[in-house]
Amino acid sequence: MSVNPLKPSFGTAGIRGIANRDLTPQLALQVGLCMAGYLGSGKRVVVGRDTRVSSEMIATAVISGLLSGGCNVEDIGVVTTPALSFAIKMLKADGGVMVTASHNPPEWNGIKLWNRDGAIFTRNQDREIEELMRKGVDYYVSWNSIGSFRRVEGIPDMYVRAILNRIDVDAVRSRSYRVVLDCGGGATCFSSPKLLRGLNCRLTTLGCEPDGFFRMRKPEPRPENLSKLMETVKSTSSDLGIAHDGDGDRTSFIDENGNYVQGDKILALICLNYLRNKPGSVIVTTVITSSVVFDVAEKIGVKVVLTPVGESCVVEKMKETGAEIGGEENIGLIVRDWVWSREGIYAATLVLDIMAREKRPLSQLLSELPNYEQAKLSVKCDGNIYPLIKHDVIRIVGEMLPRDYDNIITIDGIKVYYGRNWILVRPSGTEPLFRVFVEAEDKTTLEKLKRVALDTTMGAIQELSEKVDNRL
Ligand code: MG
Repeated sequence: MSVNPLKPSFGTAGIRGIANRDLTPQLALQVGLCMAGYLGSGKRVVVGRDTRVSSEMIATAVISGLLSGGCNVEDIGVVTTPALSFAIKMLKADGGVMVTASHNPPEWNGIKLWNRDGAIFTRNQDREIEELMRKGVDYYVSWNSIGSFRRVEGIPDMYVRAILNRIDVDAVRSRSYRVVLDCGGGATCFSSPKLLRGLNCRLTTLGCEPDGFFRMRKPEPRPENLSKLMETVKSTSSDLGIAHDGDGDRTSFIDENGNYVQGDKILALICLNYLRNKPGSVIVTTVITSSVVFDVAEKIGVKVVLTPVGESCVVEKMKETGAEIGGEENIGLIVRDWVWSREGIYAATLVLDIMAREKRPLSQLLSELPNYEQAKLSVKCDGNIYPLIKHDVIRIVGEMLPRDYDNIITIDGIKVYYGRNWILVRPSGTEPLFRVFVEAEDKTTLEKLKRVALDTTMGAIQELSEKVDNRL
């Protein structure tokens, strides 16, 4: 395989690329070495990885880089991303590295860097590491200062025990829920089945053996990848279906009727149940999140603060505002007094906790929330022109959208509200395309807004592309 000379750079979630093409052991070693240079010799760093075929290779290279830069490494093996965050705090380490490509296809891998409080590096911190890598500074320490290496066993079990300590275990156990669990062969295989059995769930398992090729299903828990799970929930008359992504920081839910549940609704349900008696508290979420979260917040007297897309943006804003709960529309739940990481397994535990306390099936709990129709689309753009026009496209879309809007938000792309209905257009950080999101209270309005959003975005791309063509 030929190596891509254009090294991948840090995006919204660390470095990502295809193993041995974009993301090589050499590059991983460089990241480890520069992390050591950034933290300083003698610091302690926890390293975890997911189940991908290339993860051991990449993690070993990162570890070599850290050791050669004088950091002491604690290798916690295959863990979920939230368990890495948990381990950094528990082991009182100075930082962490997670080797994972989350929900990307099996040939991909990635490296994410973590702070001592268990929060992912901010975009500015990622930029600093990138700058160190670009400068090619030599952080190698002398032979007698090379870091020490230690394997730490049992983190997934400690993590499961810590979660069980946070909820009313007896209430959930007494219900002995029938649950279908789909780990998709990812890192959750080592913790999620144990946790659910600890909650006395009668478990049907799919993909709960680690599989770095993700042969059972694709690692992204989108509805089109979960048909087997939906069928199994129905055929086993289960109470709940749970599907984790590859590194366990996101989870999708299937209700007892076999229906996929929108992630926003789970976020709203969790906020409703855990912030109901805490008026004045804050929820932080991204611009993509549904109005259902605002509806719930209004009902219980809680404030919603929006951020650009990306886990580090949500975490930073949570710290700034003192928010109790943060999250993304795809159920990247973050709970302030647990870990500063998006959580898939803890989210699943909270859903079971709510079902047990309310003694009602999931579909019934969700039926009390307002319903919104949603569309998630994309508009492609010529890859050569895209970087030249992406910001101007957003500006022109803002000028061309109907002016009778009630609110406009420009922190990430452009989001325009018409009452509770809205359009969001944002440039993708990874591909030459614009993501178009539309939400409306009914199907007719959704179709109307979809047409407006697509026409406006395509019109702006065409107008600017012609200008660029004339200049070239
Ligand atoms: Mg993930």
